[in-house]
Amino acid sequence: MSIPPLMPVYPRCDVRPVEGDKCHLIDEDGTRYLDFASGIAVNLLGHSHPGLIGAIQQQAARLMHVSNLYGSPQGEALAQRLVDKTFADTVFFTNSGAEAVECAIKTARAYHQHEDGNPQRTELITFTSAFHGRTMATISASNQDKMHKGFLPLLPGFRYAEFDDLESAKAQMSDRTAGFLVEPIQGEGGIRPASQQFIEGLRALCDEHDLMLVFDEVQCGVARTGKLYAYEHYGVKPDVMASAKGIGGGFPLGACLATEKAARGMGFGAHGSTYGGNPLAMAAGTAVMDAVANDEFLAEVTEKGERLRARLEQFIGNYPELFDRVRGLGLMLGLRMKVESRPFFVHLRDNHQLLTVAAGDQTLRVLPPLVAGDAEFDEFFEKLSAGAASYDPSAA
Ligand SMILES: *Cc1c(COP(=O)(O)O)cnc(C)c1O
Repeated sequence: MSIPPLMPVYPRCDVRPVEGDKCHLIDEDGTRYLDFASGIAVNLLGHSHPGLIGAIQQQAARLMHVSNLYGSPQGEALAQRLVDKTFADTVFFTNSGAEAVECAIKTARAYHQHEDGNPQRTELITFTSAFHGRTMATISASNQDKMHKGFLPLLPGFRYAEFDDLESAKAQMSDRTAGFLVEPIQGEGGIRPASQQFIEGLRALCDEHDLMLVFDEVQCGVARTGKLYAYEHYGVKPDVMASAKGIGGGFPLGACLATEKAARGMGFGAHGSTYGGNPLAMAAGTAVMDAVANDEFLAEVTEKGERLRARLEQFIGNYPELFDRVRGLGLMLGLRMKVESRPFFVHLRDNHQLLTVAAGDQTLRVLPPLVAGDAEFDEFFEKLSAGAASYDPSAA
């Protein structure tokens, strides 16, 4: 047999981590890597946070899983905290980002298919370069052909407009439009924050036509940008929002948040998940909220983000042939390059033991754990400088 036992859908590299130490990963052969990828914006407390580990250990010893047929004191408590800290009135817990987006899509459709709704409103307008996950609905929600190839037919009910272009969004609207699904800051698309005017414009269209504004904050949410959720930067509230990645700090957890009005179609029997919201996941999510959902922590992320960004701006001036500009908010930063970012990301990883993430639009994602500080930033710039100095794009 030539197919490996792990289905070969990921082009896995030779870094094979077996241990984490705060902002570092340690490989099978003992090599230490500085981790400014954070499992793609997941390990926001780093790799060995005592609060998170302790919460998971204690809960694992007490109770890991029960069916959602039973009452959930752990789930009620975490949902209440999210409700207290966000626009939302109600929360459905999932095990991943794609499942959180799936629940958001179902919530938006069910809003219109409710008895007081407009059942012909079944289409969500989504945006170019979006990433919403890898299930059938979430690949159908993205206009990227490379994710569709081999998996046709797509799920109907999605129309694609140009990201950050309000006129393009309007042009896709019809009496079948259910709402908009958008990442306020595109992650995989290349750390591209939507403009204030775009997000405000979508909100206004939703208000005017009674549509659902659905934010996918799977990557930009949970303190990454210096706010608990990125929508707070815009002063614009969604009706429904998907959250995941950082929300479990490394434990698989996602959430679909909604207002009471938006969730009117999500009654008994409308949705479910065997594992979703199990006590172990709730313990992890609660430990993350304990650490990040307070003004001091968020102010620190903002302040660190500004410091890192200022240093990046200064740094790229030394290599005008490689770097175009710095984008993003808080500790969700992207270096837009003038050359392909993927070979440079490989070079940093393999030759300088620095982990970042490549993204669309020739962008290198810089996503440190939110607990990184000046020592890690210094090490990052040492590695990045050495990497840029030794890099020959024509040889890549
Ligand atoms: C990662 C991501 C997803 C999918 O999350 P999974 O946990 O991989 O299913 C969805 N939306 C955005 C914006 C993401 O970054």
